[in-house]
Amino acid sequence: MIKKFLLSTLSIFILTSCSVSITSELDNVSISNVSKKEVSKPEFIVIDSPNRSERPQDTKISAIVLHHTATTANAKEVGNFFANPQSKVSSHYIVDRTGYIVQCVPDDKVAWHAGKSHFNGMDNVNNFSIGIEICNVGNSIEPYPDLQYDGVIRLVAYLVKQYDIPLENITRHRDIAIPAGRKIDTSNNFSVQRVLEGVKKVLDGTYQPPIPSEPIPINIPSIREIITKNGENSLRVIADIYLDNETRTKELEILNPNVKDIKYIPVGTRIKIPTDYSYFYKANNLNTNLFNLNKFF
Ligand SMILES: [Zn+2]
Repeated sequence: MIKKFLLSTLSIFILTSCSVSITSELDNVSISNVSKKEVSKPEFIVIDSPNRSERPQDTKISAIVLHHTATTANAKEVGNFFANPQSKVSSHYIVDRTGYIVQCVPDDKVAWHAGKSHFNGMDNVNNFSIGIEICNVGNSIEPYPDLQYDGVIRLVAYLVKQYDIPLENITRHRDIAIPAGRKIDTSNNFSVQRVLEGVKKVLDGTYQPPIPSEPIPINIPSIREIITKNGENSLRVIADIYLDNETRTKELEILNPNVKDIKYIPVGTRIKIPTDYSYFYKANNLNTNLFNLNKFF
C-alpha cells in the first residue's frame, strides 16, 4: 500500500512539475502538507563565481533583490559570464526561462549584483541581500514563461522561509539602485505581485506548480537598438541601465563607433546594444572556450 502510494505520488510529481526535487519531496511523503512545515530548496546546479566577498560580520540576510539578465543567454551562459572575473558581477542565483536554477555564490557570501543601492534605511544592499537574476532580455516585450515564474516562486519561498525574510523585503533592482532611475530591472512586464502570491501559496501549502509546456523560442537578434532619453547621456550610463553593468561600456563603444561619447550624447540618439555576450568576449579579447560550459556540464 505504501509502495503504491509512493508510486502514485511520484507520478503526480512527474506530471505536474518539471524540476521539483523528487527525492526531497518524497522524504516528506505526503504532497498535501509538504509546504506547511518546511520549504525544500528547488533543484539547482552550481557554477561558482569568483565575483564575491565576505558578508560583514553579524549581517542577517534580510532582503531579496530581483533582476533581469538583459540578455538572450540561458542560465548556464549567464553563470559562465559570472564565472569570468572580468565580468566583475555575479548573483546568488539565476533562474532560466525553463525554470531551472543555477547557483553562483553561496548564500552566506556577498554577490555583486546591486551596486550602489539603498533599502530600508541601509546602503550597500549587496551586504544583506540575496540576488536573483531572471533570464530575460529586459525589453519589456519578451514574456516571462510560467515555468520561470515557478522557479522564482519556489526559490524565493525557500529563501523567505530559510532566512525569515519579510515578504515586503522582496524588491527589484530598479527600486533600490541609487541614484534613482539608474536601473530598469526587473522590466515592466515582470509581475512581482505574481511572485508574492505564489510564495504565499507555497508557504501555506496550497501552491500548484504550472503544467510543463514546450519552451517558447526566443527570437531576438543579437543587437537591438534603444533611443536615448533624458539622463542617458554617456555610453557608461547606457551600459549601466540597459546591460545592468557599467563595466560593459567597451561593448557599446565597439557597436557604436560613430557616437561621440566625449561630452553628452543628445536625447533621441539611436544606440545599438548587444543582447548576448558575444561582444563581451570580443571586447575583452577572451576566448569563449576558456570558460567553456562543458567543463561544468
Ligand atoms: Zn540588476
